[in-house]
Amino acid sequence: MEGHVPRTHYSKEIRPEMDGEEVVAAGWVHERRDLGGLLFLILRDREGFVQVTLRKDRTSEKLLECVKRLSKESVVSVRGIVRSDKRAPNGCELIPKEIKVLSVAETPLPLEVSGRIRSELDTRLDVRFLDLRIPRNREIFRIRSEVLKAIRRFLDGRGFIEVNTPKIVAAATEGGTALFPISYFEREAFLSQSPQLYKQMLMATGLDRVYEIAPIFRAEEHDTTRHLNEATSADIEAAFADHEWVMRTLEALIASVYENIRENSSGSLEVLGVELPEVKPPFERITYTEALELLAERSVELEWGEDLSTAAEKTLGEIMGAHYFIVEWPTSVKPYYTMPFESREEVCKAFDLMHPRMELASGSQRIHDYEMLRASIERCGLSPESFKFYLDAFRYGMPPHAGWGLGVERLLMTMLEIENIREVILFPRDRKRLVP
Ligand code: ATP
Ligand code: MG
Repeated sequence: MEGHVPRTHYSKEIRPEMDGEEVVAAGWVHERRDLGGLLFLILRDREGFVQVTLRKDRTSEKLLECVKRLSKESVVSVRGIVRSDKRAPNGCELIPKEIKVLSVAETPLPLEVSGRIRSELDTRLDVRFLDLRIPRNREIFRIRSEVLKAIRRFLDGRGFIEVNTPKIVAAATEGGTALFPISYFEREAFLSQSPQLYKQMLMATGLDRVYEIAPIFRAEEHDTTRHLNEATSADIEAAFADHEWVMRTLEALIASVYENIRENSSGSLEVLGVELPEVKPPFERITYTEALELLAERSVELEWGEDLSTAAEKTLGEIMGAHYFIVEWPTSVKPYYTMPFESREEVCKAFDLMHPRMELASGSQRIHDYEMLRASIERCGLSPESFKFYLDAFRYGMPPHAGWGLGVERLLMTMLEIENIREVILFPRDRKRLVP
């Protein structure tokens, strides 16, 4: 059993045209079928399945015994000869010369891996390593990887520079309570809830256009299907730009991601049974006030100055039916760094990007005037002293700037029509889940 290389081909690379060639395939024992004179071993790898066929009259007793003893989900590699056969899954089968058992799986398995039985999400997440052996569940993460690449490609193409800002911070971004405290030597620190303050400070450096794709930590108690306590945010900030400019960037980015996934992940989309809709900028826009009017017509009553409830978001989504922006928000609803309109200070240059199902992103043009920002912080009941490190960046030449934060998991779950956000992150962190 010595000496054959670990793997020469993925399952899908083994083609009927290779009839007679020797290859080494490797993967998990998906199934074993005993049909009297024939013994089939179905091997599963990342790309699909290989049928390994053993003719009992032409196979050594040793090899037959080895296969008969194999438990499901054990890891093996098979060196064998390709034989084209129309009846086999990829039009060919593998006649084994040698089978190496690389790891024996214990029985019984804690999760049915065939994918025939849908297990509870909680059970699945407890044994995520097994859950992701199910092609449908694993393909989500190939798409996720493509989405991240598409975001980077798009922003790189528009002259953005990727940055990494600290995730251990001294102060809250918005002074809220949704922070995880950690002990930092003899002081208290927090896990960062957003790169907001840092990406804004970078606008004073001349880096001009920056983006970051990184975790955000929110100590929110809520236990919903669209909130995580550790989520991934794609953030941009651009100098010499206004809210209009970053909104156009955002809609173009969403369209580009959909386009990229359609082109590069068609196989994965097929496994998931998802057909992506056309996403065409410019997205429809409604003002916050118009949103309230639309809601009132549907008997969802909201006071001007209230944030939109989940029910309100849902009703609006039904009316709008595609991606849309909500613009011209009450200044009081949005964070202190949001720029109000010059003519009407009670309304600000903020926007939310909505998918019919939920909010995907929030952004705005920012206040870049030191005195104005200081006053705005005070008006929100926060102390400018604790924001000194941030405010100082506005004292020595700060260009006008704007930006947004886009939830990567929300983009994925809406794009792939997935109900629960926990399915699109490898190891979700929520109110109850800290392990695995
Ligand atoms: P929501 O009102 O839906 O809870 P938010 O307005 O508090 O979101 P922002 O602070 O605007 O969120 O963050 C920007 C984006 O980051 C959101 O639009 C969303 O896509 C994503 N996001 C924020 N918080 C979470 C979370 N707890 N889990 C998953 N994604 C999140
Ligand atoms: Mg928001």
